[in-house]
Amino acid sequence: MEIVLYPHPALRWKSKPIQEINDELRKVIAEMFELMYSAKGIGLAANQVGLPYRLFILNLSADPDLKDEEIVFINPEIFKRKGTTEGEEGCLSFPGMYGQVKRAAKIEIEAFDTSGECFEYSLDELAARAVQHECDHLDGVLFIDRMAELARRELDPVIGDFDTQFRRWQSEGRFASDEILKQEMINLEPKPRAT
Ligand code: ZN
Repeated sequence: MEIVLYPHPALRWKSKPIQEINDELRKVIAEMFELMYSAKGIGLAANQVGLPYRLFILNLSADPDLKDEEIVFINPEIFKRKGTTEGEEGCLSFPGMYGQVKRAAKIEIEAFDTSGECFEYSLDELAARAVQHECDHLDGVLFIDRMAELARRELDPVIGDFDTQFRRWQSEGRFASDEILKQEMINLEPKPRAT
């Protein structure tokens, strides 16, 4: 497992709901936390490790020792948004790049935890911003899509560099073609359990 960078096609994938919360999934989640901490991030979505699952993790402290701060969101749904606020965001799939993004100031979210229990949170400030950023990932939406046109245009050269680098990796065989990567995503999609 590794964190994939823009424009890996997994980052444009609309992910499917998880059907079963089991040990296999909990192992995936543990690996995602490891990756997130080593990249010094505060949130990571399954799409960012090439998995088409509606799942993301959060630890706003970015501190691996603060396990109490870890939250896992499985099949999350933001069901209320209030107000707007602008703030700076980064993304582990665009290392080193930051930009201003407008988000709802307050949200309410519902999700399942790793034991299959449903929970709800009312969030604001950094937590609300991070959760909206991660939920977007599950729909293949990126923070560059949410930036004001002018702000995004200023970042176009940096975005272009990410693109050039990924295409180079593909030509060198470090990553397969978009077509093959998309097929891999289809194969990994959670399937409804047979009854
Ligand atoms: Zn991100």
